[in-house]
This record gives sequence, structure tokens and C-alpha cells, in this order.
Amino acid sequence: MGIFAAVLPGCSDSGQKEQEWIVDRFDDIKVIRYEVPGFEQLPLNEKILVYYLSEAAKCGRDILYDQNFKYNLAIRRALEQIYERYDGDRNDADFKAMEKYLKKVWFANGIHHHYSNDKFVPEFSRDWFESQMDVCGVNEPVPTDLLVDIIFDPSLYPTRLNQTAGVDMVTSSAVNYYEGVTQKEVEAFYRKMRNPNDHRPVSYGLNSKLVKEADGRIVERVWYIDGMYGDAIKKIVYWLEKAQGVAEEPLKGIIGDLVKYYRTGDLRDFDTYSINWVEDTVSNIDFINGFIEDYNDPLGRKASWESNVSFVDSDACRRTRIIAENAQWFEDNSPINPAYRKPVVKGVSAKVITVAMLGGDCYPSTPIGINLPNADWIRKEHGSKSVTIDNITYAYDKAAQGNGFREEFVLRAEDRDMMERYGKIADDLHTDLHECLGHGSGQLAPGVKGGELGSYSSTLEETRADLFGLYYIGDPKLVELGLVPTTDVAKAAYASYIMNGMMTQLARIEPGKNVEESHMRNRKLIAEWCYEQGKADNVIEMVKKNGKTYVVVNDFDKLRQLFGKMLYEVQRIKSEGDYEAGKELVEKYAVKVDEKLHNEVRERYYALGIEPYGGFVNPEYELVEKDGEIVDVKISYPNNYVEQMLHYSHDYSFLPTLN
Ligand code: ZN
Repeated sequence: MGIFAAVLPGCSDSGQKEQEWIVDRFDDIKVIRYEVPGFEQLPLNEKILVYYLSEAAKCGRDILYDQNFKYNLAIRRALEQIYERYDGDRNDADFKAMEKYLKKVWFANGIHHHYSNDKFVPEFSRDWFESQMDVCGVNEPVPTDLLVDIIFDPSLYPTRLNQTAGVDMVTSSAVNYYEGVTQKEVEAFYRKMRNPNDHRPVSYGLNSKLVKEADGRIVERVWYIDGMYGDAIKKIVYWLEKAQGVAEEPLKGIIGDLVKYYRTGDLRDFDTYSINWVEDTVSNIDFINGFIEDYNDPLGRKASWESNVSFVDSDACRRTRIIAENAQWFEDNSPINPAYRKPVVKGVSAKVITVAMLGGDCYPSTPIGINLPNADWIRKEHGSKSVTIDNITYAYDKAAQGNGFREEFVLRAEDRDMMERYGKIADDLHTDLHECLGHGSGQLAPGVKGGELGSYSSTLEETRADLFGLYYIGDPKLVELGLVPTTDVAKAAYASYIMNGMMTQLARIEPGKNVEESHMRNRKLIAEWCYEQGKADNVIEMVKKNGKTYVVVNDFDKLRQLFGKMLYEVQRIKSEGDYEAGKELVEKYAVKVDEKLHNEVRERYYALGIEPYGGFVNPEYELVEKDGEIVDVKISYPNNYVEQMLHYSHDYSFLPTLN
């Protein structure tokens, strides 16, 4: 629920050139650097706190590799050894191709694409690779044949995450959350744990791998300090305790809660930590560190390890403060069945933050907004914390300047003007509304527990939050609250949302594939549903001009009504736990790609030379000591992606190759 992924780069304003922000580009990826404005002005103890929490953020990198696929660490280490020991011509075609492959592996934290989940296709030869394994003396505790087969045989572990209806999603997904068990066995295992009378259930299965032992017993291998991933968790705890030593209350206690959870692995300790974390609205420094989001589990239960460290951007907080203060008004006026509105909206805290370090599943690709915790009952009783990450969106924006995207895909000059003028504020506000209010709005019907929507839940949840944002961004109330100068901001938001959902996001999908990722599914679902529903009134039109296809919104008011109508239905589906209706919506509108349009979009998009995915290199922090005392923390901005990755692999790699 917490991740609001960045859409395709389409924004631009004037200023510095994109080249200064982009540090590397390969395949469909660009790597951008981000700045941390305000770090130097923090008081010394907060700088030190950021330093310690940042160290903790870097220590879990291997965990994510192993979670994504059980042979990822073996492959990464083999590739890195060849990369560093190779003494042939580094411009050799095979070597260059292997370098590109390694850059992709680093970016995805494994051998499957971070977004499409497809296994990478190597462009270097199998023979060359085998001989280099030999020449460079690569020695990993996985048989060389197996390792090479995994890289080169397309039939082995082809996808990290398979959510195709009707197949066994557990056995057909390469993700390392399950071993030796079928989807049916997993579902039965967790069904038994559920107690219908427990209104405060822990997030069963969140922090463990489920395996079938040799004797046939099915057991959880828990991720905690004395369990699976213990070697990395020990280091994380070491730095968290350092941080605890310099933090002030309430943050000090919260770090202590997290350390306790890492020590016990008990999910009740995780809930205690989450509650205290969400209720802390005063600390200037904040962080996430742990097993949080379940997007990478086909069954939406097990969480990938992630971390980030941040501090409050007080200037930018005005916007989200106003939204949070009016949360009840938005809820009361939401276009849904009144029975499913929250009578009292609890503790919406919304902030704009500056991120200082990204780790695990937030690195190098990162969300631009966060909304946590995920447990429904905690959100209901204690509220949720919502943040938008301003320095990251700023960097994305800078890196996209003048890339020709709008000229290519937006038909009408008036739409381009509006996007130019209001694109940034429209994106920011939509993120705020999605995160601060959208996810938190609504309530379940009596007797509905949540979780009924199964593998469709993330897509439908993101759909609900997006619709909430889209509906309200066109509300005159926003002008009245001083959040937007005019409702034209909504026109910019609607035009680019529909264009992205129906067309331009397809650039990210490999030819012949369907849409898998939940945020992409949700955008397609909304755009296609509104297109069909508004057909009689020509609300959205597909226009052909000079052999090119364009999507044009003809009636913004009617489109807003359609967003409201759809929100009504999607909220009903969630509130009533209507699995069949949810499944039908997603399968009908969100998944299947029109092949002809897909090819056209890809051709036009790639002709512009824009990479559809972006990620980041982190800044580096260094303690300045004098007479044994820390007197300052220095920040610097490295601009070499390969060096940072090798540095992390040398200094922050604590797990054995097989776990
Ligand atoms: Zn979301």
C-alpha cells in the first residue's frame, strides 16, 4: 500500500540540463543522483542520527537479493568477480554485454526485471561466460553448470512473480518466499492461523519463508536476528542501537521497539513498533527499516526488506497539512455509498520529506510517496502516516527536462501548455491525495475482514487511492483551500493520467507481454474503464493523425464524474470483499495489451531515447571526528553508479551465498 511509483517521465520545466542529473544509462534504465537540501542545516545530533540510520539502511541489501530469488547472490557475486578480475579488453563485445547485464542485476536486486518481473536475457555468449568463470577463478557454493543454466536457459525461473489467474502462483514464481510448497498448501497453512474472533490479527507470514521439510512438515523460517538472514540483521541492529543512543524520545523508544522485533521475530512486536511509529508525529528525523511491503509475493503476504531515512521538509508541508486538516470533509463528500464512509477519520498525518538514504527495496528504484503501516486494524485504530518525497520527485523532474516526450505523445498544444504549467503541482497533489487520504478512506462492511480480494487486492487498492486523488483534484474545494490556483490543474492531471494509463506506460512492457505490476494495472484499469463508460459521450477519444495514435480527453467534467462513479464501485468491492467483481474488473480492463498499439508506443517512445525507468545513486556520509568526538557529518554526491554498487557489495554484504 505504501508505494506510489513514479509514472513515466513526462514532466519538464526549465533550468539545469538533464545531463547533470543523470549519472548512468543502460537498457531501459537511467540512474539519477538526488540532492539532500537542508542536511547541512540539521543540528549535529540529527546529522549523526541520519548517519547511523543510513548505515542500517545499507546493511539489508543482500536480504532483498535473496528474497527476490534464491540464486541471486550467487549470480551477483560471480558476475562481480569476473567484472573485477577480468584482464582482457574491457571494450570486448562480450565483456560490455556482461557489464550491462550486471548493471541491470544491481538495479533490479536480482536477475529479474524490477518492474516487469521477467528474467533478463544475457547478450554475452555462454561459452565466453563459462571460460571467464574458469579464468577468473569464480568459486561460489552453487554448481557452475546450474548457475550458467539459470542465466542462459530461458525456461528456468522465467518470472519472479506470476499472478496469472488459474496457475499455481507459488510454484511458478521465482521469488524466494516459498520452497517445496504449492499455492494450495500455503493458503491452507495460513487459513489455519486465522482466528475470526481476533480483531487485531498480526500480519501472518509477513517475516518468514514457508518451506516443506524433508519429513513433509510445512514450517516458517523466520527472518530475525537468530534466524534466516540473521547475519545481516545483526549488522542492522548494531547500527540501530547506535542510532538509539543519540536519538531523543519518542524516536529513541521507537528504534528500541524495532530492535526488539528484530531480536524476537514476533509479529506482535512488529505491531507495537508500528503503532508507536505511526503515532510519532513530532520527530524531525524518520526512517523505515524492515519487512514492509508485500508486492513481491504473488499471494500478497510476505514482505520485502526495505529502508529509507528522511527528515521533514517544513516549507513543503503546508500543502499536506491543509489536506490533513480537511480530511473529514473529503471523507464526508466522497462519491461512495455513505455506509462505507469513515464516520471519523483518524490521525491522518501527512508530511513532505527529504530523503537522505535509500536501501533494500527502495534502492535504486524508489517510491515517491509512502503510506504506512499496512495492517488494516492499526490504520483504523491508530491512523496512518503519509509522506511524499520531494527531493526525489524534484530529481526525476530535472532528469526529464526537454526529452521530447510531450511533443511526441500529446496531440493538442493547449494540453501541453497545461501540463507545462501545472504538471508538477498536479503530480504532487495527486500523490498527496492518494497517499494522505485515498488509502485511508472508507470502511469495511460489518463482518468483512479485509484480505478477501486475494491476488487482486493490491491493484484494486491502488485503483481506489488513485480514483480518490483524481476525483478530488478536480474539486473546486481545492481552489477554496488555496491548494491550486485553478481547476485547470485537474485538466493537466487528467490528460496525462489517461494518456499514461491507455498508452504511454505500455512502453515499459516487453513485446508480447501483458500488464503485471499493480500500479500499472491500476492505471490501465481506470483509463480503459472510463474510456468505455464514456464512449457514448465521447469523453475520451483515440485520435489518429499522420499514422500516429493519440489519446485526447474531450470532456473533463464528465471524466471527473466517471472517476466518482468508478470509485463508488471499487469502494463497494473492497467494503463488501466482493472477490468476483474485483477479479472481473481487473481481468477485463487492467491486464491485456492491444498488440498493435503496444508496438506503436514502444517504437515512438524508444525513438526519443528516453529510458522508461529511473533509479538513484545515494549520497555518501562521512563522520568528521576531532579528539575522539564526532564534530560533523559531511555529505557528498558520488556520480558513479558502478563504484557505488561495488562499494556496497564489498562493504555491506553480510549474507552467505545460500540462505
Ligand atoms: Zn498507493
